[in-house]
Amino acid sequence: MSITENLRQIKLTLPKEVTLVAVSKTKPISDLMEAYNAGQRIFGENKIQEMAEKHEQMPKDIQWHMIGHVQRNKVKYMAEFVSLIHGVESFKLLKEINKQAKKHQRVINCLLQIKIAEEDSKFGMSASDASILLQSDEFSDLTHIKIKGVMGMATFTDNMTQVENEFKFLKHTFTELKTIQPEINIISMGMSGDYKLAIDCGSTMVRVGSSIFGYRNYN
Ligand SMILES: *Cc1c(COP(=O)(O)O)cnc(C)c1O
Repeated sequence: MSITENLRQIKLTLPKEVTLVAVSKTKPISDLMEAYNAGQRIFGENKIQEMAEKHEQMPKDIQWHMIGHVQRNKVKYMAEFVSLIHGVESFKLLKEINKQAKKHQRVINCLLQIKIAEEDSKFGMSASDASILLQSDEFSDLTHIKIKGVMGMATFTDNMTQVENEFKFLKHTFTELKTIQPEINIISMGMSGDYKLAIDCGSTMVRVGSSIFGYRNYN
């Protein structure tokens, strides 16, 4: 099926309050433009330089989400335009984002990435560290970032009960953090293989790549 048709099919299954991030990493501009022409305006990338190049070349009404692991020394390449950074997992990173945002007189929206998977390979902070961060004085000094919610990645497994438990844990963490910071309203969870389950567990933002653009070739 075409990208346009894939997008249409997926949108039919999404409740209207759920935001779709079209994950376009590794894909050429022509594929992204097909999605753009079908009405998609939110794109997710996991490499800062690739996102910056695509931002250069594409229409300026696109919202670019950084969904991958962020290296502090590269924040400067996206600070001018990024619309939401999903993978914030330390105070040090938040401080750097704040610094770069200030240079551009912006407030950059961020999600705290919570470690919900068993695997050690998945990044993220613990729920209690997130809670401590939101209540710290150093955090309240950062006036150029805004925490909008949480993000999580479930374990890569066929065991859907485990995935469900991890999603429920993220929802629970969100609810706890909301008592500290009532403005948070985003739960970014769910990918091509599990976004329906994620929505059932309370996701408000899904990150879907291969179901829209087809399989990725990393070579
Ligand atoms: C690649 C990626 C996705 C999309 O994965 P698909 O299985 O292709 O939908 C979602 N979230 C993150 C963080 C990713 O790196």
